[in-house]
Amino acid sequence: MSLTIENLHASVDGTPILKGLNLEIPAGEVHAIMGPNGSGKSTLSKIVAGHDDYEVTDGRVLLDGVDIADLEVDERSRAGIFLAFQYPAEVPGVSNANFLRAALQARLPDGEEIDAVAFYKEMYARMDELEMNRKFTSRAVNEGFSGGEKKRNEILQMMMLDPRYCLLDETDSGLDIDALKVVAKGVNSMRSPNRGFLIITHYQRLLDYIKPDHVHVMDDGRIVKSGGAELALELEESGYDFLKTA
Ligand code: ADP
Ligand code: MG
Repeated sequence: MSLTIENLHASVDGTPILKGLNLEIPAGEVHAIMGPNGSGKSTLSKIVAGHDDYEVTDGRVLLDGVDIADLEVDERSRAGIFLAFQYPAEVPGVSNANFLRAALQARLPDGEEIDAVAFYKEMYARMDELEMNRKFTSRAVNEGFSGGEKKRNEILQMMMLDPRYCLLDETDSGLDIDALKVVAKGVNSMRSPNRGFLIITHYQRLLDYIKPDHVHVMDDGRIVKSGGAELALELEESGYDFLKTA
């Protein structure tokens, strides 16, 4: 069981962004990707989630051994891929509760109705874990939310959808230390032998709270270095300067 990225090449508007990226995330493991701005981290996460701005020109993404090239974004979500966005979108006119309920309903077989009581019970329990005020259930998805509130809301979605592979794109940026701890607690509570995580972060701070099994450095559309959790600490000390001479 793994999310496997093989020799991925991708372009946007004809400009190559990913240039032969290889990465395997076995279920049960937490992998972190770090790297300078513009190295293609968000592009990677959006391609795996199925964003159609990007053209995959070579290579493939395998979900538990199955090539997902032909799956649309919603099919990938139902297949178990979740992306917490670096910049979460606002969805005016749709309440947070209805949004989550619709997403869960879409996962049920035709003719089966979601149990509303169980749904609210679960949502409130998760919100309590994330220290989110219940007023966020009736507010439109992310509309007018602060940066930190949006990031917590992404984690709420992740917890409710119970995905197999979770991609978190700079979920730590814009969070104060208390919010960071809450988000880390949410992620850690979801760690399981059946679930893999890809945590994209520009800073090592989040990795003080979510201890990765592997750390990778991305530069210019490729993984250029991999190591254990200690690699994140080295990067914090020495920065990315080594990439310029590499
Ligand atoms: P990172 O997340 O590592 O900072 P990104 O994946 O956001 O990097 O961006 C990698 C490169 O691809 C950047 O040069 C960025 O400008 C470019 N890029 C990403 N998405 C688009 C897009 N939709 N249109 C044009 N350029 C893009
Ligand atoms: Mg990014």
